[in-house]
Amino acid sequence: MSVNESLARNCYHPAESSHLTLRESLSEEQSALLEKICPAGLFQRDASARVKVHFQGCLECGCCRLIAGDDALAAWGYPPSGSGISLRFG
Ligand code: SF4
Repeated sequence: MSVNESLARNCYHPAESSHLTLRESLSEEQSALLEKICPAGLFQRDASARVKVHFQGCLECGCCRLIAGDDALAAWGYPPSGSGISLRFG
């Protein structure tokens, strides 16, 4: 089974607002790092080349928090109870 096939088995229950908040003053290096490290590819640039996070598909793995840290993320938490990802194995 490929990674994409495995990810497609998960169920997502997105919250109304994001559980991740990016800092306004992201450097180019921080932006490029976020684009590279998220296993779900949720950090993407908008038309003005600013990085946005598409939190609805978050795997709640914490890679962005661990690697980019508080300098890039103003807030990181789990989604509210009943929201977020339900992992399906097998
Ligand atoms: S917690 Fe993981 S899946 Fe969610 S945005 Fe951060 S790196 Fe991506």
